[in-house]
Amino acid sequence: MIKLSQVNKRYPDGHQALHQVSLDIAAGEMVFLTGHSGAGKSTLLKMMAAIERPTSGSVLVAGQNMASLKPVAIPFLRRNLGLIFQDHKLLFDRSVFDNVMLPLSIIGYPPKEAAKRVRAALDKVGLLDREKALPITLSGGEQQRLCIARAVVNRPSILLADEPTGHLDAEYAEEIMQLFKAFNQVGSTVVISTHDEAILTRYGNRRLHLDKGRLVA
Ligand code: ADP
Ligand code: ADP
Repeated sequence: MIKLSQVNKRYPDGHQALHQVSLDIAAGEMVFLTGHSGAGKSTLLKMMAAIERPTSGSVLVAGQNMASLKPVAIPFLRRNLGLIFQDHKLLFDRSVFDNVMLPLSIIGYPPKEAAKRVRAALDKVGLLDREKALPITLSGGEQQRLCIARAVVNRPSILLADEPTGHLDAEYAEEIMQLFKAFNQVGSTVVISTHDEAILTRYGNRRLHLDKGRLVA
């Protein structure tokens, strides 16, 4: 489902964030991406989401090469991707409900069914009672949970999450992990970057470990 071959990423300032990274993630797998801060975890996830492009090498996601993907194809690709990144990209002038509704509106989902799905997603992240609130009035952890609801509402086949539990209390972190696991069990491919040892020891999934931009284990 995701295949990287000899991927290098050098940012415009000359910093080489990834060196010769090759990896394979099968459809239906759930894997962790580990490594210290600055190891290249976000960069790697951004390659998979076509947010950043490799300097060389190939990044295949669901059969598409992200290195040569035309900009016009990106929105279509993203419909199959649930993205949970640090820069939330929430719409701050729209309610919690509308933020989660957006991915469904874009694909023209029937409104009544869509509203049900939105409420189910909000319920799963514990934000159902905040549906009318504006995102700015939510705490950092609540905004993070809102992003997760938005990322999963359209049941993407691939979920990419960058430190999804970073700002969450242990209790919510566990609920979010359970949500990802449930997603994975119905067939989604899930990639989660984390350095939360509690999570890593509790979930025995395969780990891809980065050290200074190299995949070392
Ligand atoms: P991690 O997610 O593991 O903390 P990142 O992928 O964010 O690592 O960063 C890997 C390296 O690339 C770091 O040294 C970081 O400073 C650098 N980096 C990340 N984004 C950029 C950028 N846009 N421009 C230049 N360097 C960057
Ligand atoms: P465009 O510039 O073509 O409008 P964007 O980069 O704004 O495309 O993103 C398209 C979709 O991908 C949006 O729905 C947005 O929510 C999602 N997206 C893009 N980048 C991120 C990110 N860093 N974190 C979360 N979602 C993102």
